[in-house]
Amino acid sequence: MAISPDIIRQLRTQLSADKLLTEKSDCLAYGYDNSRLQAMPELVVFPETHDEVIGIVQLCARENIPITTRGRGTGTTGAAVPTLGGVVLSTERMARILEISPDDRLMVVQPGVTNQAVQDAAAEHGFFWPPDPTSAAVCTIGGNLAYNSAGPRAVKYGTPREHTLGLRAVTGNGEEIRTGTRTTKGVVGYDFTRLLIGSEGSLAIITEATTLLGKPPAMSPAEVMALQEQHMAYGLKYLAGVVLHIGVEVGALPEGFDVEYENVELMLDFDKLRRIYAVKQYREGRQSEGQMQLVEDE
Ligand SMILES: Cc1cc2nc3c(=O)[nH]c(=O)nc-3n(C[C@H](O)[C@H](O)[C@H](O)COP(=O)(O)OP(=O)(O)OC[C@H]3O[C@@H](n4cnc5c(N)ncnc54)[C@H](O)[C@@H]3O)c2cc1C
Repeated sequence: MAISPDIIRQLRTQLSADKLLTEKSDCLAYGYDNSRLQAMPELVVFPETHDEVIGIVQLCARENIPITTRGRGTGTTGAAVPTLGGVVLSTERMARILEISPDDRLMVVQPGVTNQAVQDAAAEHGFFWPPDPTSAAVCTIGGNLAYNSAGPRAVKYGTPREHTLGLRAVTGNGEEIRTGTRTTKGVVGYDFTRLLIGSEGSLAIITEATTLLGKPPAMSPAEVMALQEQHMAYGLKYLAGVVLHIGVEVGALPEGFDVEYENVELMLDFDKLRRIYAVKQYREGRQSEGQMQLVEDE
């Protein structure tokens, strides 16, 4: 269904001119995403506020015009492609961080904020937001929530469903809904937050998200590995020390040989130790010079 000039006029009364694209050449870039599917929208709108989203949705609902919500189009399933034509509602200008509350471990953001911007803002307070679909620099929180995108970190931390406290959204007939709580414990009632997350924009347009922040691990995987190697080395030295100690106790090692650090180092050099032992045996007359020489020559 073609969008009439009258409807475009009505939209222009709600939105300033720079928040509306009508030219085909301008709209083209908003007709595809990372799925490589493509369809032409008739209009592209760029609301900046929750109220502007309500106005657009109410008008489109009244006129029976389909709306496709779009973050940054990095999704791979084609859910941001306007296959029914109509309006593409881009959230790219709803990109403000509205609140950061380190004490409550939460951040309230508009949906067009990139995942990276959330990570950067959280990091300033010693936090991070665990979901990261590895497209953080570009993808939006709205897209992350609509797709429940978590990337590889999902294995350790879970998905956006586990890291979102609540949402503000606009339903298909232009009504506002709020879901969830501002507290980490929110046990009462239907869990509409989890329902909206992963719904691919089919139930409502998310206009605000309250994200639950996490504490990043104290060490990076590389640092953990380095520490493990260090522990392994200490463990070996300790083991060598124990063997050495027993060796001295049972008289299998030269006198004056003690469990000093340098001797523990030496203990790891088994060849050198064998040579010292052969000399000791020779001096005590328990081994011939020839036998000692054999060890020396090895
Ligand atoms: C290099 C690379 C790696 C990726 N790795 C992963 C990965 O590991 N896991 C993964 O899941 N994805 C991955 N993706 C896909 C993609 O980046 C994510 O799914 C991302 O969450 C999409 O965000 P977007 O802002 O681009 O959303 P878009 O692609 O624009 O939209 C995605 C969906 O969200 C809806 N939507 C957007 N904003 C809203 C809103 N405010 N309210 C309601 N619905 C909305 C759209 O209608 C659409 O259904 C990857 C992409 C790239 C390029």
